Amino acid sequence: MATCAEGSKVSAKKSLPWFRGLSEAKSDPSKHLDSNDKCIIIRDGYPKSRHHYLVLPRRNIPNLTSLTTKDVPLLENMLEFSKLYLNKVHGVNYGGINFRCGYHAVPSMKELHMHVISQDFDSICLKNKKHWNSFTTDFFLDATKVISIINDRGCLEINREYYEGLLKGPLVCHVCGKEQVNLPTLKRHFKSHNN
Ligand code: AMP
Ligand code: ZN
Repeated sequence: MATCAEGSKVSAKKSLPWFRGLSEAKSDPSKHLDSNDKCIIIRDGYPKSRHHYLVLPRRNIPNLTSLTTKDVPLLENMLEFSKLYLNKVHGVNYGGINFRCGYHAVPSMKELHMHVISQDFDSICLKNKKHWNSFTTDFFLDATKVISIINDRGCLEINREYYEGLLKGPLVCHVCGKEQVNLPTLKRHFKSHNN
């Protein structure tokens, strides 16, 4: 099971406000797991699954809605880079581990970052309904979907109210659709789907 140990280490340094923590990680090479000329991969400080990484573009991009078609090559690079990294670290086909790469529609942290997260959700840092819903509902926008929307429409519009509503929705197992009474029950139930 993933723990929050990394998080307590990162939060000990308090030079920037918490929502700028990723900018801080970007400028601290000791946090970089790997990088190329366009982006950097770090460990998520409060992993919501056994394997949870963040890909950060080197260039400062405020958020999803500031992206335009000229950023598509960068978004593609971030996705390709994450796949190469997963193959390098976990083996061919990521050692059989199921990952999703994507973005939270309404992120809490400043600066664009792409989540790369295994689909076990086996972590003590995944503590509440908001966490669960942010990775298992449409609030989580697949990187390929983001790229194709920007390619088609030139930019991405986010209806904040709609997406924030998804976080407040019921606790549902996204595999079978069964609603669960609380998070521990849901996590136990979810494990029964062979994770
Ligand atoms: P979001 O802004 O909702 O897309 O998610 C931000 C992610 O950043 C969360 O998964 C947090 O666990 C993670 N996080 C928050 N602060 C830090 C930090 N200082 N270093 C690394 N990861 C962090
Ligand atoms: Zn289920």
